[in-house]
Amino acid sequence: KDDGRNTLRFFVPEMQASLSQRMDMERQLRGALDADEGLELYLQPQYTDEEAICGAELLIRWQYEGSFVPPDVFIPVAEDSGLIYRLGDWVIENACRIGAGLKDELRDREFSLAINVSPRQFRQKNFSEKIFEAMERHELPRGLIELELTEGLLIEDVDDTVSKMLSLREQGVRFSIDDFGTGYSSLRYLKSLPLDTLKVDQSFVRDVLTDPGDASIVRAIVSMARTLELEVIAEGVETKEVRDFLISANCLRFQGYLYSRPLPLDDFKALLETERER
Ligand code: C2E
Ligand code: CA
Ligand code: CA
Ligand code: CA
Repeated sequence: KDDGRNTLRFFVPEMQASLSQRMDMERQLRGALDADEGLELYLQPQYTDEEAICGAELLIRWQYEGSFVPPDVFIPVAEDSGLIYRLGDWVIENACRIGAGLKDELRDREFSLAINVSPRQFRQKNFSEKIFEAMERHELPRGLIELELTEGLLIEDVDDTVSKMLSLREQGVRFSIDDFGTGYSSLRYLKSLPLDTLKVDQSFVRDVLTDPGDASIVRAIVSMARTLELEVIAEGVETKEVRDFLISANCLRFQGYLYSRPLPLDDFKALLETERER
């Protein structure tokens, strides 16, 4: 048992967990959900080219025995074991609670609160109803909640995807494609789905200044987004130079360490306050 605990500490996202590590992690994660302990949603602010906060992405944190287990490590374990249903419910509930708690701060301001949705979670029969129910109970305004979906999810079982997206959009839910450019979405789907935003994957953003191929890809994604009348936001913006390139490419929304790391709710609220006072 002690051994299992220690192994959890040494995970980095690149590592593949062994079967016994995964089973151990699954058990610990189930315990965390049972006790509602150690799980938290952080908020990473998103900015316009005028340095105004225009949204936040919710990113889950799991603190286990004093250290954080990266979501890139435990989300796949949750997906494979089916725990993602409970974890997904936890995320939806806590995201809506956070949204409700920010109502005053966000009054008369354009803002979207983005939730990461994993494919198995989205495929649940009653996924849309779960979102409506939580939004209604927390009395969230239309247009606040944005769901981040991945390209893979969009192109498989398209009928189900479209019908869920349409009914969610009717209730004022927005959609973005996460990690855009790393999957295989065809232009046809992009055109026919009720999407709002493309999120340019960090892998292209990181090297735009040194890799002409990545720079071309970013420019192409931005112009495609404009053609389809979608918003476009770059993730993983770490330097002013990258931000300036993005502006020159007409990408005017940013998320990344240049602005802020993901923050606990109280720190995020404080950030909104200081912006308001500026
Ligand atoms: P993602 O959705 O692509 O999230 C962006 C990741 O990039 C986050 O890692 C974020 O902390 C990190 N990041 C933000 N700005 C920068 C930057 O400037 N430079 C660099 N190098 N990284 C930056 P994080 O929080 O470790 O999350 C990893 C992945 O785990 C997420 O990738 C997402 O796929 C998944 N995930 C996180 N929270 C949830 C959740 O609530 N539900 C689900 N289903 N998946 C989640
Ligand atoms: Ca995301
Ligand atoms: Ca992403
Ligand atoms: Ca990612």
